[in-house]
Amino acid sequence: MAKTPAQIEKQKREAEKRKKRDKAILKIAREMPDDPAEEVVTPPIPGNGVKCLRCEGTGHLILDCDICKGQGKMVVRCRKCAGKGTYTQLAGPCSRCAATGVLEDGTQCPRCKGRKLQLEFSSPCFKCSGTGTTKVACKRCGGSLRYKSPCGNCGGTGIYQPKP
Ligand SMILES: [Zn+2]
Ligand SMILES: [Zn+2]
Ligand SMILES: [Zn+2]
Ligand SMILES: [Zn+2]
Repeated sequence: MAKTPAQIEKQKREAEKRKKRDKAILKIAREMPDDPAEEVVTPPIPGNGVKCLRCEGTGHLILDCDICKGQGKMVVRCRKCAGKGTYTQLAGPCSRCAATGVLEDGTQCPRCKGRKLQLEFSSPCFKCSGTGTTKVACKRCGGSLRYKSPCGNCGGTGIYQPKP
């Protein structure tokens, strides 16, 4: 389809306009600031307080755990066997001598040695493998060897208030 000179002129003008607009947009884009840096919001410090330097304002300190002596575990008495390492049980009345302590011939029963009760028997505690102790994760550091302690300098607030 042939174009009239007027149409061609109009097209030219529109192309010009577009160029101008694109230029303007580019200019604006160039002048726009980069993404604003993340703002760090620090709460206002009341009175004449200052950020506690001991805990860097966190209110707590990360300390090395010393109660587990750097093991992360604590040796505790085995609860299953009360630290004895063995279970001890009475076996009940002696069956060899019918709990009389003597045999029919009047001699002392060799099984209960006259005690009328069968010997106690014991078995090693499976929980502690007979050692009487078990290891549990350190209660304070949970095995991490480090623990959080409230900062005494600022009372856990992160703000140090000079005494008036
Ligand atoms: Zn045990
Ligand atoms: Zn007996
Ligand atoms: Zn510990
Ligand atoms: Zn502090």
